[in-house]
Formats: sequence, structure tokens, C-alpha cells
Amino acid sequence: MIESALDLVGAGAEAGEAMHALIAQLYPICRSITGDGVRRTLAAIEQRIPLNVFEVPTGAAVFDWTIPREWNIRDAWIKNSRGDRIVDFQRCNLHVLNYSTPIHATVPLAQLKAHLYSIPEQPDRIPYRTSYYREAWGFCVTHEQLASLNEDAYEVCIDSSLTEGHLTYGECYLPGTTADEVLISCHVCHPSLCNDNLSGVSVATFLAQALFKRRRRYSYRFLFIPGTIGAIAWLARNQVEAARIRHGLVLTCVGDPGAFHYKKSRRGDAEIDRIVAHVLRQQPGQHKLLEFSPYGYDERQFCSPGFNLPVGCLMRSVWGDFPEYHTSADNLDFVKAEALSESLSVCLAVCDVIEHNRRFRNTHPFCEPALGPRGLYATTGGGRAAVENLAKLWALNLSDGHHSLLDIADRAGLGFTTIRAAAAALADHGLLAPADDAPD
Ligand code: ZN
Repeated sequence: MIESALDLVGAGAEAGEAMHALIAQLYPICRSITGDGVRRTLAAIEQRIPLNVFEVPTGAAVFDWTIPREWNIRDAWIKNSRGDRIVDFQRCNLHVLNYSTPIHATVPLAQLKAHLYSIPEQPDRIPYRTSYYREAWGFCVTHEQLASLNEDAYEVCIDSSLTEGHLTYGECYLPGTTADEVLISCHVCHPSLCNDNLSGVSVATFLAQALFKRRRRYSYRFLFIPGTIGAIAWLARNQVEAARIRHGLVLTCVGDPGAFHYKKSRRGDAEIDRIVAHVLRQQPGQHKLLEFSPYGYDERQFCSPGFNLPVGCLMRSVWGDFPEYHTSADNLDFVKAEALSESLSVCLAVCDVIEHNRRFRNTHPFCEPALGPRGLYATTGGGRAAVENLAKLWALNLSDGHHSLLDIADRAGLGFTTIRAAAAALADHGLLAPADDAPD
């Protein structure tokens, strides 16, 4: 019996469209690891969920790193000698090397070419390139644009600034009945790129919105942070909070129609690793589990050995594996409402297991209790009734105070929600008693 996690979300298609609309709203903003692009992005998120915005000053030490100068950009272009804007930041913000130093000069073609980046294998796409920690100026162009340049005097202008300022990040904290935390993290530092990572930003925002309305056993902390330096800054400033994280997910590349991929935490056998694997098994379609590696997104920081937090990374297509990755083709057409909706459903199903995975003890452990007289054993109702009966037998047999409902679901090969419903029915009749201190 396959249960679809999609059942857990009432308005799947509607939510998908709304998440796509949020991506479309954020898409034109030129973001980076610092600057007003991040602030404008956080302001848009704050329209939907409660958000605390933090500013970390330039020069602040965060573990082995230093918060860099703040980067902002107003305009950039390359003009030929006729005065035509042949490359224009206003048309696409990927055209500027992200974190480019300011420049205004007239240069010959050979000198210009030393500052141009293109992808010869994908001649109609603009690459996304950054230079955060090495001062440089540059433009990213299609290879077709590069090939069409003739000898000329080119006026280049990058109206950017690198100044003492701040690194900005946002936090949405939803308190639960316990202080134990679930961390959901996404990066907000990429400019006009949709799957990497406005998809993660949008799904995280809607997940927070959905959980905001629910009764929560765990407290949830959503981080909207610049990649790498933002995660390092957050961890450096929140070591007490980090110690409360019991489960965590980094969300990225969750808007394309590719199969789900889950990269396990460094621990490899954390509860979150087993929960996501279980939920993905219950989903229609293919999925793949990936072992931890110290490369990728901010799980690298959360899983650094000093923290070793139970944080994995949920993706659909894996970064670097899809041709649109870090190019102008990672656009609004590449991300789909239906894919976003499925990703939100998976996240909600994961949170459902996190919230309700608990242990019980069978109060009648000597032989099977009589279920029929209690109305707990269906004799009609076909396949579904047979599955529900089987789920009760598994829940009774393995509820010894040690096996969790997830353990039982995995061992039985049944969905968590089926086992959870069976356990609830048995508990209602006094056949199972709570064997943990989770609040009812
Ligand atoms: Zn990226």
C-alpha cells in the first residue's frame, strides 16, 4: 500500500502556483552574499512569515572567517564605440561578475576579453560567476556575444560599491511545546537563478507558513542566509541554539521536475536521514539517497566536525548535474509549480514524521490481545482493511518501548501515517501506552 505524501497538503496545485509566483517576484533582484538584494528578498519573505533580520558588521570575525565588505550595484554595461549598450546589467543581472569591483574605462578588445566569462559548450547562455574573496571586475556574456565582438574601443562601466557595511540574514522562529529545534536552511545569495536557489527560498517560506498554523511539538527555525559565510556567521553567533537542533534540512534545487535526491547528514544514520528516506520511498517516482560529502551547500558547515549536526540536504536535481545549473537557463521556465508543490509535500510529510515519531509499550504483551471484540479488527473493507489490520499487529508486536513508530513502519514496509493511525487506535483502547515523555 503506497500512501502519497501529497494527501497531506490540501491545496497542492494552488500552493505550487503561489510558490512559483514568489519566485517570479524575487527573480529580478540582484542578490549577493551581502547588500540590498538580500535585504529586499528578506522584506518580501517577511510579507508572508514572521522574520527577524540580523545584520553582522563588516570585519566581524566568525570562526576562521571575516565578514567581507558589503557589495551593492546600481548599473553596469559595455558600450561599443557607437554608444550601443551591447551588454546590459538591466537586461540580466548575471551579466556582471558578482562582487565585481567598480570600473569605468575605455579598453581595447584584447583587454576587455580578459574580463569576460562565457560557456563555449552552451553558447546562448550567460554563466553565473562570482569573485567574493578576490578583488576583480568582469562581465558574463553568452559565447555568441563574445564571438561577435570586433576590434573596437569599448566603454565598460560597473557602478558598484564595496564598503564597510553588513552581512544580512533572516530567521523565522516558530516555538513549539519543547525547545528542541528543527532547522530548515536555504541560501539567499544567488541573483536571477530560480532552481538554485529561489526554489529553496520559496518552499521554505511556504513550509513555515503551513507550520505556523499547526500545533508544534518541536520549535522550528528557518534560516534565510547567504551561502557559506552566512551559515558560518549564524553558527558562530548561535552556538547555544545550534546545540538544540535535533533534525535539520538544507533546501536547494527543489523546483525542477527531476527526481528527488537526499544527501544524508555526516552522521549517516541520524533520525532525519531515516525519516527522509522513508518519506521518499512512499512517494511515487524515482529518488536517490546520497552519502555525505564535505562539498555542496551549507550542510558542509552544519555537519563540520565541531557541530556534527543531524542536517541533510534535500534536492531534486543535484547541483552541477543539470545543464541549466549556474546559467541564465535556470530561469522561471525551468522551475515548475507542480515540482514545487511536490517538494513542499515531501517537506510537510517529513515534518509530520518528526512531530509524531514516538515510542509506545504494548500493555498486553503476552500473546495477541483480542482485537475483534474491541472493534479493532476489520473483516470487511478489502485491501485497505487488511493493511490496517496488519499495521495494528505490527504496532502491537514491536511496541516494546524501544522501537519508534518509524522503526515499525520501516520494518513492516508500511507508510508512517498507516502505522501512526494504527497506534493511535490501539492507544485509544488502552492496548498501547506512551513509552516516552512526548506530550500527547
Ligand atoms: Zn549555486
